Amino acid sequence: MTVKTDTNPTEEKRKQNIPDERGYYGSFGGAYIPEMLYPNVDELRSNYLQVIESAEFRKEFELLLRDYVGRPTPLYYAGNLSETYGAKIYLKREDLCHTGAHKLNSVVGQALIARHLGKKNIIAETGAGQHGVATATVCALMKIPCTVFMGSKDIARQQPNVLRMKMLGAEVIAVESGSKTLKDATNEAIRHWINHPDDTYYLIGSTIGPHPYPDLVARLQSVISQEIQSQLINQEGKDAPDYVLACAGGGSNAAGAFFHFIGNGKTRLIGTEAAGEGVDSGLTAATIYRGTPGIIHGCKTLLMQTSDGQVMEAHSVSAGLDYPGIGPLHAHLHTTGLAQFLPVTDTEALEAAQMLSRAEGIIPALETAHAVAALSKLQFKPDDVAVICLSGRGDKDLQTYQQYFQKT
Ligand SMILES: *Cc1c(COP(=O)(O)O)cnc(C)c1O
Repeated sequence: MTVKTDTNPTEEKRKQNIPDERGYYGSFGGAYIPEMLYPNVDELRSNYLQVIESAEFRKEFELLLRDYVGRPTPLYYAGNLSETYGAKIYLKREDLCHTGAHKLNSVVGQALIARHLGKKNIIAETGAGQHGVATATVCALMKIPCTVFMGSKDIARQQPNVLRMKMLGAEVIAVESGSKTLKDATNEAIRHWINHPDDTYYLIGSTIGPHPYPDLVARLQSVISQEIQSQLINQEGKDAPDYVLACAGGGSNAAGAFFHFIGNGKTRLIGTEAAGEGVDSGLTAATIYRGTPGIIHGCKTLLMQTSDGQVMEAHSVSAGLDYPGIGPLHAHLHTTGLAQFLPVTDTEALEAAQMLSRAEGIIPALETAHAVAALSKLQFKPDDVAVICLSGRGDKDLQTYQQYFQKT
């Protein structure tokens, strides 16, 4: 497909990467929370900008990003992919971050904030276990007790990550309610937070949740596009690519990869969402495509819901994209046309994972493979510079890959 570009940047459009003071990106965002949580969320809201802009925080954060996470991550020119797709294709190697994905960027930042706010405990929810592992990792580093809520169904199917969290000293709490997956783990984490309001920091794993979380996580992840900018100046002599491609579950790696390019009038921002077995199959996680405005986990955004407002189950082969909502920033970018979202099916993602493994010797995470799959849906000009946010590595998905390719 060809993608429209908005070639008329305005100051107004450049500012669409941050919400207004009530936490709204256009009509999405805000903070829809039980009254019991007001003090907690308000404490974070009234402090987060001041903390993350302080010299002390910047110094600690940048040092940890460099020496612990392993930043800057390379911007790798993928010669073989470039030849195949007829454009200059770069991979932003978030898969090389410690723990194998972009998630640590935001977890390190939020743990530092928790410390600045004097919090003694950290709680988190996890679906596939990746966010739980990232949180347990940083809590070990900072000696903060860590409790991770996880649906019992996910515990059964994500054993390696459960073992990692335990090895790192985190307590993993099995959630038996509802569908025993991510949305139930989130509900349970929020319930725990209500009962432990003073000393506990709730560490959210994506650009979702009540304001200020989506903005906080987007700002912490924006190191990705900041690095892309300076690396492109060195490698291509320009500060903005023609395309940025990223997969979107809750939307944090996409938010980070898009952040400094939003509304610049030059860069086409392409998000990919998990279509599962197809957008019309009933087994999908294509939230932008299928979603309608509603409230999920504390914010107003697009989500998959029944006509009477019940949150629907999402389906994707990729556990990290298997979420019925999407962050409010992305709902807004979609509605305004500042970014475009393409659905990618399970099969397309699996094929893209194999393609990238064979073409460049890099095995991507299944989530990431959804972004790679967009390459064959776009029409490039030879001079186009396209950056794919390679959000994570594929070791955790080898069994899924093997099962699929054995059958085909
Ligand atoms: C968790 C995860 C995602 C999805 O989360 P976002 O917040 O949408 O980025 C994507 N890729 C990888 C490798 C992940 O671990």
